Amino acid sequence: MAQKIVAGNWKMNLKLDEAIRLVEVLKINHIESDVRVVLFPPSVYIDTLSHRIDDHIELGVQNFHAEAKGAYTGELAINQIKSVGANIGLIGHSERRAYFAETNDILKLKVDAAVSQEFQFIFCCGEPLMIREAGEELDFVKMQLEESLFHLSKDEMLDRIIAYEPVWAIGTGKTASAEQAESMHRAIRTWLHEKYDEETAQSVSLLYGGSCNHENARELFSCPNVDGGLIGGASLKSEVFCEIIKSY
Ligand code: PEP
Repeated sequence: MAQKIVAGNWKMNLKLDEAIRLVEVLKINHIESDVRVVLFPPSVYIDTLSHRIDDHIELGVQNFHAEAKGAYTGELAINQIKSVGANIGLIGHSERRAYFAETNDILKLKVDAAVSQEFQFIFCCGEPLMIREAGEELDFVKMQLEESLFHLSKDEMLDRIIAYEPVWAIGTGKTASAEQAESMHRAIRTWLHEKYDEETAQSVSLLYGGSCNHENARELFSCPNVDGGLIGGASLKSEVFCEIIKSY
């Protein structure tokens, strides 16, 4: 059974005092449902926040390097990240793909590094507007998954997390309709079944991301193949993020 997850990607937003306040409000609101809540703050805040979260909140990083150590100025290795209290990272966010030239090959290296170092990850995929308008979104997303993720064995794929984030919906206020989200999620579940088996397909959590907020979360989360959300802008406001979590 796939885990229900609501994750907040803060991107390059919030000062430390604002980040601390946000975590404190989330704690006061007692997120005690069976939804797994993961926050992706700027990495420099992880150590501080790790001392302030409670058992219902996990911390992750928005990016990490595939190498274990070395001369990679500005980068962070998995063991460094783990040492300050985060055990999960995003891989393949569309902003990393677009602004930092992260190709499917680079993402595959990150997937392999994460698997070998027992570091959890949310693998992000999604098509740009031009591809959606051409009606080629299924082929496009399938290729992203095949080139970076589907080389894993069944054991390595069990319980993984994939976030479908159509690029045209990220930060634009233009969310995918519940039908569009469900249709892509159903396709991903089917590919997992074909490539692996039904047990694997049902174990993988499929999150939707792209202008998800407190007004549309309930409808999106009610889709049979949507197991939660990766939330950007709306995760920066504690009341809104709490409402999104509670709409599950
Ligand atoms: C994201 O960046 O992962 C995201 C979903 O952003 P937003 O919710 O702001 O569209």
